[in-house]
This record gives sequence, structure tokens and C-alpha cells, in this order.
Amino acid sequence: MNALVPAWSAPLAVTEVSSGVFIHQGVHEEFGEHYHGDIANISFVIGHDAVAVIDTGGSYLVGSALRAAIRMRTNLPIRYVINTHVHSDHIFGNAAFEQDKPEFIGHHLLPRAMKLRAENYLVNLHSMLGAAAEGSRIVLPTRLVDSEITLDLGGRILILQAWPAAHTDHDLTVQDENSGTLWLGDLLFAERTPSVDGDLQGWLSVIKSLDALQTALVIPGHGKPGKYKQALLEKQRHYLQTLRDDLRQGIRDGKSMTDTIQQAAQSEKQRWLLFDSVNSRNATVLYPAMEWE
Ligand SMILES: [Zn+2]
Repeated sequence: MNALVPAWSAPLAVTEVSSGVFIHQGVHEEFGEHYHGDIANISFVIGHDAVAVIDTGGSYLVGSALRAAIRMRTNLPIRYVINTHVHSDHIFGNAAFEQDKPEFIGHHLLPRAMKLRAENYLVNLHSMLGAAAEGSRIVLPTRLVDSEITLDLGGRILILQAWPAAHTDHDLTVQDENSGTLWLGDLLFAERTPSVDGDLQGWLSVIKSLDALQTALVIPGHGKPGKYKQALLEKQRHYLQTLRDDLRQGIRDGKSMTDTIQQAAQSEKQRWLLFDSVNSRNATVLYPAMEWE
């Protein structure tokens, strides 16, 4: 039994980064032996009439603790639960909000990704969390975003935008017009090494489009919120490009697959947390496609 579990019957610690905008920052840890389901950034936004949740954490318990944090601050209905993408650290808290009967909202390709991964994700979650996985389930979206929709929380408009394949093939971002807050989900990693599960080239071009959005504060999927979106995106762009270019160069130079993968993006190592495991996974996943370029 995970030692952290009892604390989560209490409300999750959240920070009000702007009026009515609350963030809980997950810790930088890998999936694995000590995984506890609380590694991603999860948030909620309060309008005059309703509350929207943006990602729900990696387990039912984390979702429940997030819900308790909301209920400490408002009794308004939790009308929307938004998932930025399928990764289990962002979605397994959904089940804690079913009692509120919200619209669960995601990219139009999110249901496919959830169905494809449901079985594996649940097996993994139970093996990592043990009893603390109790209650965690896949909850599919009930409303899909093809390109863009807006939600009205009462005097507060959220703009949800679906992107082409990048971090995953179904990334969704959220903008709060009132505060200028932009949630990028895992389209942006701060501090923690970005992990590629979609399309590297696509991600690089999405970064260009994200650059153009006006924001006062950007919330990454992992790491500290920041005022300087461009600098954060640029750091990530540099990593992704270096990884791509090193893999290409290794293949062009006729290096072995093992050497190419081991050496890729090593110049970036000091700039990122959890680098070795995530970077080598990225290189291994990307290598086969690069070989056929
Ligand atoms: Zn992710």
C-alpha cells in the first residue's frame, strides 16, 4: 500500500495562479515502482455559473482529492471535465467526477486512443498502485472537439482547440480568455524531458502555431507554469530537433542502431529531468521510422 494514499483522502493542494484558476502541480517522477498517480499538472477553473476541470490525475484517489479541493472553494456545478490527451497520469481521476454528471470532453480521436489502451493501462495501474488503484476506470468523453469549441462557465469563456498529431495524435489545448491562461497539456513539458508518443515532425510544426497564441500564463502538462511561453517552447523545440537530427545523422553515418539510440540528444542531458529513461524511450520509438526516411 502506497504511503501517500491516506493523505489523498484530504483535498489536493492547489495554487490560485489567477483569479478563479487553480493548479495542482504533479511531482517529477517516472512510472514504475514508486509511482503514485500524481505526476501531471491538473487544474480547475471557476466561473459565475459552473466549474471546469482540466485533467484529473492518475487515479480515482487523485481525482477525488482534486474534487475535494474544488468543493472547499465552491458549490457550483462541475459541468465540464476536459482531458488534454489519453496518458494515464491525466485521465484516471475522471471517475471521481462521474457523480457530478459533467460533460467529459476530449479531442475527437481521444475515444479511439482510450479504447486501444484501456486494458493495458488498467493492468499497469493496478500493478503499480496496488490497492490505491481502486476505483480508477477509463471514462470516455461524452463530447468531442473536431477543431474548436467554446465553453461558457458564466462570465468566463474557455476555448478548446484540437491539434494535429504532435505529443499524441489527439492533443487538446484550453484557453481562458479572462485570465489569458493557456493549458497546453503535454504539448509542453517544462523541466521534465518531453516524451514523444505521436509525431515528432508534427509536434515541431504545432510548436510554431502555439508560438503565435497570446498568453499571460502557460500551464505545461508537467512542470511549473510560466509567463514566458516562447522560451519554454523554444527549449522544447531544441530538444526535439536535436533528437531528430542526431538520429538522422547516426543513420546517415552508418552507425549501429544501439549506438545511434544511445548517443542521440546526449547534448541535452543536463537541461532536463528524468532524461535517461525518457530520452532513450523516445529514440527507440523514433528510430525505425527514421531509418526509412
Ligand atoms: Zn502525456
